[in-house]
Amino acid sequence: MPLPPEDCLFCKLVAEGDHVASADGFVAIKDIDPMSETHLLVLPERHIDTFKDIDAFPDDEAGRMLRFVADTAKGAGLESYRVLVNVGRAAGQTVFHLHWHILGGRLDRSRIASALADGE
Ligand code: AMP
Ligand code: ZN
Repeated sequence: MPLPPEDCLFCKLVAEGDHVASADGFVAIKDIDPMSETHLLVLPERHIDTFKDIDAFPDDEAGRMLRFVADTAKGAGLESYRVLVNVGRAAGQTVFHLHWHILGGRLDRSRIASALADGE
């Protein structure tokens, strides 16, 4: 079951966080513990726990989310970057509100290694 919004960290950050970009239905924030020189997170306003629940998004909203990821990276001045979604605890997902990592610039290899380490 999804968390009620008041119990979800990213619902809170959607509502009152420091947004580096926003568009209808989506926001981008800086990751608090960056894995790379530029590490942004794209959050949909609509709460779904994981990427596996993407069927909850109408096709047009899912398409706009991808465009927002690309626009956010461009707006951050990134020419080359990585886009990452951890799906499920065993794949390293720690916050259960869908989010897209945008990783640009030099990677912090030790952070990447621990972030991509298998979960429990
Ligand atoms: P994941 O492990 O894929 O679920 O990613 C969760 C990400 O959220 C991690 O990279 C964390 O550093 C990041 N994070 C956790 N708390 C905050 C916060 N308060 N503000 C911004 N990013 C956060
Ligand atoms: Zn949420």
